[in-house]
Amino acid sequence: MDDLKKRISQAKEAIEKSEYILVGGGAGLSSAAGLTYSGKRFTEYFADFKEKYGFTDMYSGTFYSFKTQEERWAHWARHIDVNRYLMPATQLYKEILELVMLKKYFVISTNVESQFIKAGFPEEKVFEVQGDYSFLQCAKACHNKLYYNEKMVKGMVSQTNDCRVPSDLVPRCPVCGGEMDVNLRHNDFFVQDDEWYNADKRYEQFLKESEGKNVVYLEFGVGFNTPGIIRYPFEQMTNKNPNATLIRFNKDYPIGMLENENKIISFDEDILLMIQCIKSIEMKENREHWSNTQNHEVNHTFN
Ligand SMILES: [Zn+2]
Repeated sequence: MDDLKKRISQAKEAIEKSEYILVGGGAGLSSAAGLTYSGKRFTEYFADFKEKYGFTDMYSGTFYSFKTQEERWAHWARHIDVNRYLMPATQLYKEILELVMLKKYFVISTNVESQFIKAGFPEEKVFEVQGDYSFLQCAKACHNKLYYNEKMVKGMVSQTNDCRVPSDLVPRCPVCGGEMDVNLRHNDFFVQDDEWYNADKRYEQFLKESEGKNVVYLEFGVGFNTPGIIRYPFEQMTNKNPNATLIRFNKDYPIGMLENENKIISFDEDILLMIQCIKSIEMKENREHWSNTQNHEVNHTFN
């Protein structure tokens, strides 16, 4: 893509002029932030699973048909611990917060590692629509409750031996006694508890409030796994609203629908670098403004 300088200053201008910012986060955002599921992070944390099962990345184990629950939970506990509990807030998510914090903003995300919350986004402004690694649920959704899993996960991780957890640590549904699952939308049994519905309401409220206003849709790393949640609605809302701009960061699919040609600013470059560029123009202008003021005062004194 060309005209990088122009796109950066257009994005900066759109953000400055906006009253509302809706942030959409997809899988590409977390991998850009360093939450990669293959390569060094995989071999560092999953060498034993790699050797025993031949996995090539962290994804391959998450929905693998393990023969026993003891093996399945040994893998899930490690996966959740590494990606949810051991991973600190990443710089990229923190810089996104700095970019939007002075506006009326809201976040919708399909990511499940709580990075927005860790970075300091208030919980009431984030809707994690596809679930959250921090919670377990009944695998058959026999009841509508989620269970915070940090203690269980840490317990299973510390007692994992030869890629298995002890049988008495395998989570069981406290209501039906059946298997438990991680609260991720991967089948028809995904549990949406009261908190989920409250977040959904707050999201709808934000959409209503910002309708027709000066809005920037900031879309990060949203591809075509579940385009109906963020990507398509963002395009449609941009199309309907003459005062809207869509800023899309996507290294694989940066181009939007033709009707929005003049309302989309796309970046296929490194997300963190682009955000820093957008911010640095702003800072540079502030600095220039400051030094002009200083010069003016100095001149004034000499006059
Ligand atoms: Zn149950």
